[in-house]
Amino acid sequence: MTFAGLWRDLEPLGRHPETCGYRRYSWTPADAQCRAWFTKAAEQRGLIVQPDANGNLWAWWGPPRPGAVATGSHLDSVPDGGGYDGALGVVTALAAVDLLKEKNFHPERTVVLVAFTEEEGARFGVPCLGSRLLTGAADPQTARDLTDDAGVTLAEAMTDAGLDPALIGPDPALLGGLGAFVELHVEQGRALAPLGAALGLAEGIWPHGRWRFEFGGRADHAGTARLADRRDPMLPYSGTVLAARRAAAEHGAVATFGKVIVEPNGTNAVPSAVRAWLDARAPDEATVEETVTAIRSAAAGFSEEHGITLSVRRESYTPLVRFDQDLRDRIAGVLAAAGITAPVLPTAAGHDAGALAERLPTAMLFVRNPTGVSHSPAEHADLADCEAGVRALALVLHDLAGPK
Ligand SMILES: [Zn+2]
Repeated sequence: MTFAGLWRDLEPLGRHPETCGYRRYSWTPADAQCRAWFTKAAEQRGLIVQPDANGNLWAWWGPPRPGAVATGSHLDSVPDGGGYDGALGVVTALAAVDLLKEKNFHPERTVVLVAFTEEEGARFGVPCLGSRLLTGAADPQTARDLTDDAGVTLAEAMTDAGLDPALIGPDPALLGGLGAFVELHVEQGRALAPLGAALGLAEGIWPHGRWRFEFGGRADHAGTARLADRRDPMLPYSGTVLAARRAAAEHGAVATFGKVIVEPNGTNAVPSAVRAWLDARAPDEATVEETVTAIRSAAAGFSEEHGITLSVRRESYTPLVRFDQDLRDRIAGVLAAAGITAPVLPTAAGHDAGALAERLPTAMLFVRNPTGVSHSPAEHADLADCEAGVRALALVLHDLAGPK
């Protein structure tokens, strides 16, 4: 199987030497290396690689025509992310093509491999940006104006990478040509290991969103400013972090402040501002809403108590995603016929498959993650399970793209 060789070539790209985590942020040199790797690997297999206007890479096995079967995932990462999130789906897709070619399979329906851009939203803040622009779920002008932490806009980053940001936006012709999308992904969570299953199928994706909290105060001297005179935004922020944990536990949701920017960020200075991002997810939309409302109201109360200004803005939101039942049943049938049991799991992680699900039948295959840890260098999947994923994906592509 060619999986290990492909993996070995991709593995060092964008990996930080000290943390061993990945920093594959979109439109950076590390991202360009990953794109070059994908392009070369696809072309070596005789696929025709074409970027779309939104920066997603498509590798066609056969001429683009209606009913194409798409598979793939993303190559970007969260800060110091693991090697498997996204990359596994792309490498598996290439290895599945090899397996099918070994068996002299000639697709009747075109197969197309895709590597989506900015899935994690690690650089510009909006997750699944490449797939959302493609479907029209993200507004192109808003997207062009998104900035990274250094103030670089998406438009500038894309221009530097040789793309024309004026062209980003929905692509009904490309989308309309797709008959189905199957995304293979490393499991994020630990449901498969206790079940003794190497593979799983996704039921749906919890609704989830990101909210930006800005606490504004006044910078001051950490030694000379009397406690009573301070307007310290760190105080309401820290209360809000604890309130988020409480609200999540009460509502059966998850809520996380994982990103915070403190100004001026000096050890001996009372901060002037704290900007922090809340990520909240729950099994249903009403629960997300209730959880976030509780957190906002706690933040407002703490801010008032400490003389701090507060603004809260929702930056992205993804409603509940239900994957196509017929496609899932069909895939489960194909796997069962090959003796593969793939339990059906819900997930609280967002994916490009979720963004595409409202436009075409989509499904997701999960590969067992023995510890469940993800978005961390500790993220892992065993080689044998990855190869089981390749075989399963090849069976699925054979069924979806092969003779009826
Ligand atoms: Zn992912």
